[in-house]
Amino acid sequence: MINPLLFGHAATVGAGSARASADAARASSAAGSAKRDVTHLEDRLDRLSLVCMAMWSLLQDKTKLTEEDLLERVKMLDLMDGVEDGKASRSIQKCHACNRVMSARHRKCLYCGAEKLAQSAFDAI
Ligand SMILES: [Zn+2]
Repeated sequence: MINPLLFGHAATVGAGSARASADAARASSAAGSAKRDVTHLEDRLDRLSLVCMAMWSLLQDKTKLTEEDLLERVKMLDLMDGVEDGKASRSIQKCHACNRVMSARHRKCLYCGAEKLAQSAFDAI
């Protein structure tokens, strides 16, 4: 004869195990997706680095600019935000429609949906 208390406990344990398996599958899927995203970003960074190197090589060939000129300009642009951290900072942009601060990561205002107006060529990146 089946003890209903034991059977009920086994069902609970089985359901818990199924939930844990589903959670593990979701976590594994999320980890795989994050890994693909990182690989994609690394590929883009490699392509951008290659284009920057090509542009700099062309500039050196066509002008009298030197490595020192480039390093000086990098330092100047780096310091535009007051911090020498090796990063280009973007200025805070406000929405032209609702005047709220716009997210640097989105092309549209999160509040009203207005399109972000490009202020420089780098805003399109
Ligand atoms: Zn807005």
